[in-house]
Amino acid sequence: MQRILQRGEIEALDRIEFPRVRLPQPPALFAERAARLRQLAPGNPIGDYLGFVARLVDVQARASVDIRTVAPDEPTIARALEHGMPVLPARESIDPAWRQALRPLLAAIRDDASSPPASLQVAAMLGELDDDCLDALALDAIAGDVAPRWQAARPVVMAALQVAFADAASRLDTKRIAYVDPATICPVCGSLPVASVLRIGGQAGGHRYLHCALCATEWHLVRVKCSHCESTKGVRYQGIEESPEEGARAVLAETCDECHTYRKQADQEKDPFAEPLADDLASLMLDLLMADTPFARASENPWLSLAAPHDEPESGP
Ligand SMILES: [Zn+2]
Ligand SMILES: [Zn+2]
Repeated sequence: MQRILQRGEIEALDRIEFPRVRLPQPPALFAERAARLRQLAPGNPIGDYLGFVARLVDVQARASVDIRTVAPDEPTIARALEHGMPVLPARESIDPAWRQALRPLLAAIRDDASSPPASLQVAAMLGELDDDCLDALALDAIAGDVAPRWQAARPVVMAALQVAFADAASRLDTKRIAYVDPATICPVCGSLPVASVLRIGGQAGGHRYLHCALCATEWHLVRVKCSHCESTKGVRYQGIEESPEEGARAVLAETCDECHTYRKQADQEKDPFAEPLADDLASLMLDLLMADTPFARASENPWLSLAAPHDEPESGP
């Protein structure tokens, strides 16, 4: 039986707090991402690649159970809070444990008969590198400044780094994470978001979160603001009507007339299984559509450099 809320009760409801920052829960995060990729693969123009990535995300899920990164110490956390800085700035916070996560990923690529040839080649090349060279490559991968011959290695290097950074982020305290400026970079590691997500369920339900491409932390940003420049003017949405792709209707491109970029938004109200990184990757057709508009992609998907159709005609669409 429903009853009408009294004035004081309505005000109390209004004050229910929703989480500003949602830290990742790595094994579940990667398991859900892999499941979503498998759900989106059938009939998708890059379905084979989505299946390949799903198998590597399975490896990320297993690696995230075993990995142990070193948590930031209290003075580091206090300093980040005081200065409004990310507590694990990506370039200065690469934990050596990331290499433990890389090994099973390389093994999985080698053992998978359907691995794309370019991935097999980079797995062999990465297997030859010593720790110092791997760490240097990790730094370049995070900076987005990888030498051309290592370009194809970037997704798997980033995948291993995601395991390490998600583990470190998962052990932070949400109350001890700074408000950073701009509000469109990850408050934990300072990376750009891969996409945003409109969440359903729980206290986060009904709110828009940006999803970090590296550590998978999510942070709240009001929907009226551009997820890149924070402008409140000229934010619009574009999608593919009547798309045959599974789940594609849950993804829209949020465009901004101020900074002329777009970033995708996955809407769990339209599809409760929407997962920002997976849905962004699986909606490559929307990126192709956006290529004919004045809007440039605001940030990349770490899995995309191997999937680009021009790079890899053998397994691309
Ligand atoms: Zn992050
Ligand atoms: Zn903007």
